[in-house]
Amino acid sequence: MAGIRIIKENVDQKTFEALAEICPFDAFSYENAVLEVSSACKVCKLCIKNGPAGVLVLEEEQRVAIDKSLYRGITVYVDHIEGKIHPVTFELIGKARELAAVIDHPVYALFMGTNISEKADQLLSYGVDKVFVYDQPELKHFVIEPYANVLEDFIEKLKPSSILVGATNVGRSLAPRVAARCHTGLTADCTILEMKENTDLVQIRPAFGGNIMAQIVTQYSRPQFCTVRYKVFTAPELVKEPWGSVEIMAIGKDKLISAIEVLEVIKKEKGVDLSDAETIVAVGRGVKCEKDLEMIYQFAQKIGATVACTRPGIESGWFDARLQIGLSGRTVKPKLIIALGISGAVQFAAGMQNSEYIIAINNDSKAPIFNIAHCGMVGDLYEILPELLKMIDEPETEEAGKTLVMPEAIKAPERMVG
Ligand SMILES: Cc1cc2nc3c(=O)[nH]c(=O)nc-3n(C[C@H](O)[C@H](O)[C@H](O)COP(=O)(O)OP(=O)(O)OC[C@H]3O[C@@H](n4cnc5c(N)ncnc54)[C@H](O)[C@@H]3O)c2cc1C
Repeated sequence: MAGIRIIKENVDQKTFEALAEICPFDAFSYENAVLEVSSACKVCKLCIKNGPAGVLVLEEEQRVAIDKSLYRGITVYVDHIEGKIHPVTFELIGKARELAAVIDHPVYALFMGTNISEKADQLLSYGVDKVFVYDQPELKHFVIEPYANVLEDFIEKLKPSSILVGATNVGRSLAPRVAARCHTGLTADCTILEMKENTDLVQIRPAFGGNIMAQIVTQYSRPQFCTVRYKVFTAPELVKEPWGSVEIMAIGKDKLISAIEVLEVIKKEKGVDLSDAETIVAVGRGVKCEKDLEMIYQFAQKIGATVACTRPGIESGWFDARLQIGLSGRTVKPKLIIALGISGAVQFAAGMQNSEYIIAINNDSKAPIFNIAHCGMVGDLYEILPELLKMIDEPETEEAGKTLVMPEAIKAPERMVG
């Protein structure tokens, strides 16, 4: 980590005022003629670049370069409950294969649990080179200490270069704990992953409220950890003749002790999982009041869609928080999503732009949603939706067909195809 050193003898009230003006994080204080930088400092270096000369010095920590060639393989953590593998695992295996091809590394899957050995073979069908299985009775339930110990044991033995973990409840708990133990970096909720030829994993994700895409690289340590949400990547085709193998691993019982005792597992009632929906009608602030949702639910029901929303829908208390799409909500990749009265803010788009087909209805032809939509209708949703409902009910009516002829103007943006 870099830090900022203050050359005390060059400081006075005026230099403090100049620095306070520049610092976006209010990190400077000046009391009893002593200038200090607080922990709010993000080492953005603006004060060094633009502040008074001779007051601040950037101190870079000298990092010892590691031998990256000692680390080989892209590992995918197999997320599962009682052997039922979460589909994010398959998506990550597909991405791991792409990344591994760049550096000619093998793809590993790490599978830990109880009575799972016979389920390991299915992972080979996704093109894994080697599945490492820790099948021990103490691993029946996900308990953080033993699971973290197993992952650590695997890292010590195999020295993988990168570890991809699904951003599930389990993954979000396990990955950072082990990354901290390994004194290495972790990037949560990556949306793009790329591989450099020197084996550095470029972990790309929205940052600063979705306004920039940050490219994060773990240059000085290994393994490189990242988590990725379900539905961000696509599961690969099954391979006809799997070539990989399964290796059974073991860890000492002393490493499987936990202060937590699982007395009973009570399964939560499965609610609507937005990530699995194939058709979604997404509601935005263009819908004026809660009562108007009736029309939307009616429409959604007719086309067999799940209703979801943008953040204002949650803030107004109309929807359950699990139905929010976006950066701070769910990532979805349905076959069809219809965005009603949604502007298409980056934070919303980040959660749905990989959908197979996007239809947008908005009365503002310049709304950014039209930049990612495949098809758009510029107009008042309160006029368009009743017409669509009429079309569904009376598909043969010539009248309904006429009403929905789209104006030329909306075909302009590049992605729109119809
Ligand atoms: C850190 C951070 C995280 C965030 N995370 C999320 C997130 O996960 N998900 C999310 O959704 N937002 C998120 N936001 C908020 C986001 O920035 C936007 O404010 C939000 O997405 C806007 O929602 P909207 O499109 O429904 O509303 P608006 O931006 O207000 O858009 C409403 C649209 O409806 C159109 N409209 C109005 N009336 C009609 C009508 N009668 N017919 C047709 N169209 C009409 C308007 O032209 C407008 O384009 C986040 C913001 C921050 C800072």
